[in-house]
Amino acid sequence: MKITNRVRKAAQQSKIFRYKTYKKIGCVGYRKHVDRIVKFAMVFLLVVGAFLIIRPDSQTVPEDSLNCAPNCPVEPVVNPDAQEVVHSDLGDEPVVEDIDEDGASLIALEEAVRQNEAELTTYKIAKGETLVGLLTRAKIAKAQHKNIINTLETLVNVKTIKRDTIVLIFTGQKGEFLGLTLPFRDNEFVAVLKDEDGSLIPFSQEGCVENKNITVRGKIERTFSGSAQKYGAPKEIVNQIVNALKNEVNFSSGFKRGDAFEIIYSTQVTPTGLELDTGRQVLFVGLEMGNDKIYRYWYTDRSGTPAFYTPTGQREQRTLEKRPVKAVPRLSSPYGWRTHPILMYRVFHSGVDLACPRGTPIIAAGDGTITQLGRKGAYGKYIRIRHAGGYETAYGHMNGYKKGLKVGSRVKQGDVIGYVGATGRATGPHVHFEVWKNKKTTNPFNNNVISGKQLSGFELEQFQSFAESIHPDFANHLFGKHPPIPARKPKTTQK
Ligand SMILES: [Zn+2]
Repeated sequence: MKITNRVRKAAQQSKIFRYKTYKKIGCVGYRKHVDRIVKFAMVFLLVVGAFLIIRPDSQTVPEDSLNCAPNCPVEPVVNPDAQEVVHSDLGDEPVVEDIDEDGASLIALEEAVRQNEAELTTYKIAKGETLVGLLTRAKIAKAQHKNIINTLETLVNVKTIKRDTIVLIFTGQKGEFLGLTLPFRDNEFVAVLKDEDGSLIPFSQEGCVENKNITVRGKIERTFSGSAQKYGAPKEIVNQIVNALKNEVNFSSGFKRGDAFEIIYSTQVTPTGLELDTGRQVLFVGLEMGNDKIYRYWYTDRSGTPAFYTPTGQREQRTLEKRPVKAVPRLSSPYGWRTHPILMYRVFHSGVDLACPRGTPIIAAGDGTITQLGRKGAYGKYIRIRHAGGYETAYGHMNGYKKGLKVGSRVKQGDVIGYVGATGRATGPHVHFEVWKNKKTTNPFNNNVISGKQLSGFELEQFQSFAESIHPDFANHLFGKHPPIPARKPKTTQK
């Protein structure tokens, strides 16, 4: 700008100067003609001068130039080592090839993750977090932040990256930054990849992270968790299953070698097929422990509550037994306040006393896992079982326990767990039976429904569609015979 102003000013001054000169010599009226003559003369002199200066001098021209015909095309001298630079300077480097190369390095990076040579960690932009904040959280060297952001800025406005955006960060074995991708951006994902020479290159490609259902089937070797993970089930999914079914299934010792399992879970995969560690959700689990078979679909009902359902659309429905003995007992002492028959003062009776002949089998009031087994003060020989839905049951004054039971054993409703006796503080053979709901005793004679729901009508249809969509071969897959999914009612069409 400064230079152009100066040039303009100089031109103006020269114009004024010439005008003054013309006025002085008295030919203002002819100044245009004079100007033309002067310009022509100057151009003529320049051309003549140039010809005289650059006129080929036969004495100094090299041999090979003389062999050249007067109009032959001049071959540029190309240094083969500098070819790429020349090419690049021309600005016609194929762009497509460039993208493919970077795409290849992303694929190579993902392959390195599969080979455990690089690590991929998935982050989500937290509330109020900037990308720099996320890089700090990801322990990326601070010195690199600016370079990474600037490289990414060539593709996206970093400030527009919203909360909850998934950011994948690739790191090397020493935790060094290898790359970063943001897969959620209008069917496009952008990346910053570290080149071989250490420089960062921006890269973008069409495609997006997609949901995919993955099936993992296998045989139990030692534990369910270990075997499932060995066959490729993510730890997170295994934990989801164990947490949801721990009251039903004895995961610590309920499996035998050769028992089978099948897990279907949904996950997110990148356009190149790399599975992310976000958004994973179990959809189906099948466990075959000898003759004991459990099949569950993870389904979210209309109220938005997710839970495991049986293939027939039933959510765990367990009503605790009110009189867990294999006999018709006599209620010798009800639940509530009473004067204690031995202590002779009023105490709260936290359970019911069911008097039966000594040795009468005591059964588990519901499915669950034994959490206590052994002598417990005034209760004598005692068993406590944890059930689903925050329920627990306890049995006291037992004569003895069913052989083979221990803490952690899984029991089903109706299984014999021990025998009526009068151990501990008891006046005669009876079972002291307690029901706990969320760590508080309740009256065992109340209707203790752990949880239960049978899907029906439209919701059952929806559930069946869901089950079929994730598991169309349920009836005849690896496990063989399965309880069939109930036939769907044909939709009636109105004419
Ligand atoms: Zn009692």
